[in-house]
This record gives sequence, C-alpha cells and structure tokens, in this order.
Amino acid sequence: MRESTLYFYGAAGMVTGSNFLLDTGGIKIVVDCGLMQGMGEDKNWESFAYNPADVSHLIVTHAHLDHIGRIPRLVKLGFKGKIISTTGTMSLAGPILLDAMEILGSSAEKHGREALFDEHDINAAMQMWTGIGYQEKVELADDVSLQLFDAGHILGSAIAQLTREGRNIVFSGDLGGGNSPLLPATHEVTGASYLVIEATYGDKTRPEDAERREQLENIIEESARRGGTLLIPAFSTERTQDLMYEIRTLMVEKRIPSMPVFVDSPLALKITHTFNSHPEYFTPAIRERIEGGEDIFAFPELHFVESMEASRKIKETGEPKIILAGSGMSSGGRVLAHEREYLPDPKSTLLIVGYQAAGTMGRRLIEGAKSIEYHKEKIPVRAKVETLYGYSAHRGSESLLEFANKAAEEADEVFIVHAEPAPALFLSQRIRDYLGVKATVPELGEKAVLKF
Ligand SMILES: [Zn+2]
Repeated sequence: MRESTLYFYGAAGMVTGSNFLLDTGGIKIVVDCGLMQGMGEDKNWESFAYNPADVSHLIVTHAHLDHIGRIPRLVKLGFKGKIISTTGTMSLAGPILLDAMEILGSSAEKHGREALFDEHDINAAMQMWTGIGYQEKVELADDVSLQLFDAGHILGSAIAQLTREGRNIVFSGDLGGGNSPLLPATHEVTGASYLVIEATYGDKTRPEDAERREQLENIIEESARRGGTLLIPAFSTERTQDLMYEIRTLMVEKRIPSMPVFVDSPLALKITHTFNSHPEYFTPAIRERIEGGEDIFAFPELHFVESMEASRKIKETGEPKIILAGSGMSSGGRVLAHEREYLPDPKSTLLIVGYQAAGTMGRRLIEGAKSIEYHKEKIPVRAKVETLYGYSAHRGSESLLEFANKAAEEADEVFIVHAEPAPALFLSQRIRDYLGVKATVPELGEKAVLKF
C-alpha cells in the first residue's frame, strides 16, 4: 500500500486560512490557500511552510477569501503549477482578489508592512487557472485524479475528492446547509477513505428555513417601526445576493414596508453580475427564472452604491432604510463607516448574519461590546444588535454529522478542520460515538501519514 503525507497548514484549530498540502511521494498538491482573518492575521506575511515552487497543483474549493486570499502570495513566492476549481469559482476569484488587494494594501500600509501581493500576482494566478465542471474527472498524475462535487455553500463551491488506486481523500471545503434560497443541496459523497471536514458550526443547531425568513421579516418590520436604519454587514459573495433575493421577495409580497435598500459594495455589484451570468449553478426553479429573463435580484427600492462619495451620502437618505455593506465580519471595508454612524443610534439595528471569527469587530459586537474603536475613536454601541444564523452558508452540527455519516462510513480517519477548538472537539466526539470512526482535530502544522 502506498503512503502519502497530509499537512495541515491552515484552518487547523481555527476557521480561517484554509491550506492543506498532500505529498503523494510523486507530486505535491495544495488544497485551498486562504487568508488568515481575525487573530491569525499576522501569519499571512510569514512564508509558507513548504516551497511553493515544489507544488504541482492547487485545488480551490470555493471563492471565499479564507480559501483563496493567499493564492497571489503563493504565486509571488514561486508557485508555477496549475490552479484548478469550478468555472464558477474561477469567475468569482478575480474580482474578489482585486477587492481584497485594496483592503489588504491599505491595512499593510497602516502597519508599515509590504503588500501581500499586487495586481501582477493576481493576473499571473488567473493565467494558471483552469475551470472545470462538477463530476468531471481530471488526472493530476498517472495515478492521482481529482473530481469536484457541488458543496451547496456559495456559487461554484465544491467538495474536492482525490483518488488513487481506488482510495479517496475527500476535502469537504465549506458545506452549505441546504438552506440557500438560490443553490441546490450539497452533493451526497460516499466512499471516502479519509475525510477532511469543516466544523464551523460543529456545536450549533441552526434554525429552520421558514423560521429564518420570518425572523428576517420581523427584524425588518421592527427596525421600520423604530424609524431607524437596519445595517447588515455581509460578505459580498452569496450572502449579499441571498439577502437581496429574500428582501426582494418580502417586499414584492408586501410582507415588509417599502423602504430604500442600499448595497454599498462595488464588489457585490460585480459579483451579482457574475451570478446572473452563471444560472447553471442555481436550483432548477431559479435557473428557469433567470433564463426566462427575470432579474431575480432587482427591485425598485434597491440601490447599488459604487463611489465613496455616494457611500457617504447614504446617511442623508431618510429612515427607515436598510444598508448591506462589507466586510461580513466588520474587519474592514465600507461597513465600518456605517457602524460609526449608526451604532451610537438607539433607533438603529445591526443585524449579524454570518460567522464572526474570534478577534474581529463583529465577534466583539455579538458578545455584547458596549463600545468599539474606530480609528482610535471610541464609538458607543446603543443600537440594537441582532443575530440571525439561519442565513449562514454553513451546516449546523446535525447535518455535518449526517454528511460525515454518508461520506465516511468506511473511512480510516476523519480530520476536523475549519473550526475553533470547542466545535471541532464536539464534532469529533460525535463522529467517534455515532459512526465509530477515528476522528481527530489536527493542530496547525501537524501532519498525518495516510494509506493513499
Ligand atoms: Zn466559505
């Protein structure tokens, strides 16, 4: 039996910075090369634990920054191999990396550090990139092949399966909860010899679909009653489009009052165009509507805000109103200026809809911070802070276990990644108890020798 070594260089013991290296003895394959966000941020500037020039393939599960954010860095430091993802992920990656470059650049400058990468590195990365379809089989070496399956997490998101002599290593990437209003459910994977599974919400139960739309409706209504602004920090990819679609539905059905909705993100506008040009990634019902010429995201109250000047002018619009702006964890981007404006206002509401990594401003806000710092200025938090996890693009504990149960029934070992220690340990315990399969939580930099 052959042996390979799997190294956990990111998203081990933490949620961000996904980066795994598989050394088959013949080739070196990297899966995901994400940005560290929140507490591990400084690590982005360190060199990789391996020589990027030795890597033949980089497999990308999806276009979230914590899975792609260091790709141009990898290229800058010598990677010359092939980058492979779905076509959808490839289409999203360019605009997302360019946007990140600007935000990271200004933060690096502030800390007196070199830029992580520049536009030249992004262009070089895009030149090496190949988009493939779900289920398509790609040979990486004589004896190693790759297949991607729909993860149902964001547009183009994939579960990556490497196969060698009939044995499979499955990288879950991030797994959608089957609750996206736009995307189909996660592909059911079976037959993993090894499973590397995310556990962002490994110890949480997520509310049901119907419940969350009602909750969103109630929060918007309540915010309108108070005559304030509803501010939603949201990732520009998928979360923003999901929410635009939901708010549009609620407004068209007159379940919430008509009010202006600002999407303050030039990136979200680009991404929405990308969504409209890839109907093949959506559920059959949504695909039909897009192909029939309907713009499922547009409604009269919706305004995309591009220039900084227009962004600053949003506050001149009367209330009630809704603002969606990035970043999703309030760790940078335009949402900060809006938080400065609306957090001190008791009429306003801040709605947190996504995962907030430890060390981010968003995390401090859900933990009940009474004030936050904005450019060394202390901003009191008097606005109502609400959380709504039903729109998270991640699975809850039960359905993670369900995925593991189907995929890893016969597995030699399951590795729990992409989680903080508590949810990771919780899920590993449940996998051991319920499936009787060996489940471990690797630490950053740890390796495992696999029969592969
Ligand atoms: Zn993700």
